Amino acid sequence: MRLILLALSLGALGYSPARADQVAITFDDLPVFGYYAPMPEAQKVTAALLDGFKRHHWPVTGFVNEIQLAEWDRPARIDLLTRWLDAGMDLGNHSYSHLSLTNTPVEAYIADVARGETVTKGLLAARGRQERWYRHPYLETGPTLAIRQRFEGWLADHGYRVAPVSMENSDWEFAEPYDDALKHGNTAQAAHIRDAYLAYTRQIIPWYRAAAKDVLGREPAFVFLLHASRLNAASIDELDGIFRQNHLDPVTLDKAMADPAYLITDTYAGPNGIDWVTRWSLALHTPIRQPVAPKVPADIVSLDAAVEAATSKPPAAPVPGS
Ligand SMILES: [Zn+2]
Repeated sequence: MRLILLALSLGALGYSPARADQVAITFDDLPVFGYYAPMPEAQKVTAALLDGFKRHHWPVTGFVNEIQLAEWDRPARIDLLTRWLDAGMDLGNHSYSHLSLTNTPVEAYIADVARGETVTKGLLAARGRQERWYRHPYLETGPTLAIRQRFEGWLADHGYRVAPVSMENSDWEFAEPYDDALKHGNTAQAAHIRDAYLAYTRQIIPWYRAAAKDVLGREPAFVFLLHASRLNAASIDELDGIFRQNHLDPVTLDKAMADPAYLITDTYAGPNGIDWVTRWSLALHTPIRQPVAPKVPADIVSLDAAVEAATSKPPAAPVPGS
């Protein structure tokens, strides 16, 4: 009775009985997704992302691949990371060269991760901060338990926590053909890809919410994976609208990670990069009862495959004056 009265009086005060759920928004492949983005473009993408975060109060953690800093324009590329920190965002390690832990010997993988903190760690230290988060490329946490434990032991010894992913929208699969369409001046194609991307995001977020509820009996604080792409830079307002429609309130990664779901012991060892809802389902033996997740539209998948085939090698450095 007392609860009913409380609910009634809160209702009278205009409070919604539905609690806003939380989402920590994370961006991978910094400074800019799509390696070797030419500099004025990379600066524009970074500015648009950071403006969007500020506009919508997203406290974002970005994950860096320092291999992107090693090419031409190194000081300007490091400056892109500085802008993230100046905007109040956090930065973590995503390995130096985006290796697969499934396909790389673990000691070589560890050396690559250590190399991946060369610049970022110093930028954080200059602000009295530490590099604290590691995000596995492809969400691959180790093909065997021994490899997994070796690497996670290294992470713990070096002050890192694993940044999980419990919600994502395959944004990279749309982002590559979107970049390609813009590169070729095909704005109609780019607009089609962006519309398809937002429609897919509207479908997949409710699916993740329902799947997590199947597994945990409740909705956890989610950790969302996006990439630092032109597509997302052009879509922040719509993405924010989709989060709000789903009652998802952007919070820091630290805050989301305080959810006890992230204490569930995940012992998955295998070649696949899988999200944390699937890991919880395996650990707790509670199935996802939802129909299979919505699929990325077939035309986007084939556009992406075509771009991948055409751009599997990084371009040569631009010739000065050309
Ligand atoms: Zn990545």
